[in-house]
Amino acid sequence: MKTVIPFVSEVSGMERQVWRDALPEALDGIAEVKAFDDLSDAERNAAKIAIVANPDPEKVAALKNLVWVQSLWAGVERLVKELPEDGPLIVRLTDPQMAETMSEAVLAWTLYLHRSMPTYMAQQHAKLWLDHPLKTPQEVTVSVLGIGKLGQASALRLKANGFNVIGWSRTPKGIDGLKTYSGNDGLQDVLSQSDIAVLLMPLTDDTRGLFNETAFTNFKSGASLINFARGPIINSDALLQALNSGRLNHAVLDVFDEEPLPEGHPFWDHPQVTVLPHISAPTITSTASKIVAENIGRYLETGEIPDAVDRKQGY
Ligand code: NAP
Repeated sequence: MKTVIPFVSEVSGMERQVWRDALPEALDGIAEVKAFDDLSDAERNAAKIAIVANPDPEKVAALKNLVWVQSLWAGVERLVKELPEDGPLIVRLTDPQMAETMSEAVLAWTLYLHRSMPTYMAQQHAKLWLDHPLKTPQEVTVSVLGIGKLGQASALRLKANGFNVIGWSRTPKGIDGLKTYSGNDGLQDVLSQSDIAVLLMPLTDDTRGLFNETAFTNFKSGASLINFARGPIINSDALLQALNSGRLNHAVLDVFDEEPLPEGHPFWDHPQVTVLPHISAPTITSTASKIVAENIGRYLETGEIPDAVDRKQGY
């Protein structure tokens, strides 16, 4: 009899349907994927693994014998908060294609800032013909804050495009060709040198609200920020203040405290803010499904559980 893998997800409409087509195809011959609501009591009790995407925690709790859950997202802060500490292990999605996609976005929006696109767009609207001095990429320091799977790929891509790249992480790192910093003192050093800072760390108890008024005073005057990590890492009021005072030049924001960004939010109309609808590195169904299938196949064959989230660190 085929192993039944519950799919527990509150994602809606099209997205749900895409997964409900892709997962069974990728897991064909390995296991049968069934939506939570279609499971029999026996299947709920037998389940050792579940695939989750924005799941209702009560449904996960109803699968009493789960050993681990495979998330379809890279960021798992909600799962870490919502699943009990003695609950199933949490395996987040780590997909080399996602790192590629994110590094492409980081390069694209770094170039957008480097080549002053927001300024030239505003000038076009004002029918203003005015050029501004251009630096070489080598003269521009870009910091990548969070140099994990996505951050490292991004840092290397920026470097390959000539930027002076530095990195920051929680624990010290030795990465060939990349000057790296860690800890709180390290953050101050990094921010004081950065022309553009790219946020790519997870949302945890340590990073929530990390970019507050104090952090913004550590930025080099006129620097810009790209947040491709999670909204609550930045205190929005402090960011607005930093932009309005001229301490910061521009912010490219892909993630927000509340998504979709509420209609009346000041970010929408702010001339120094570029709002993106959480698109920097979407999960790509085709590659992600294959990785999920490999993880599950390996577990069923050998009992090996992929690297799980450290619940204490929150990522
Ligand atoms: P990862 O491999 O776990 O890397 C996380 C990095 O952040 C590591 O370098 C880690 O340091 C560092 N970090 C964690 N806590 C820190 C702290 N308190 N201070 C300094 N550095 C800290 O994660 P990833 O796969 O690269 O993903 C990063 C985040 O990107 C995800 O958590 C998710 O929120 C976000 N994301 C966004 C999108 C989007 O479309 N906008 C898509 C995918 C992911 P150590 O190396 O010392 O552990």
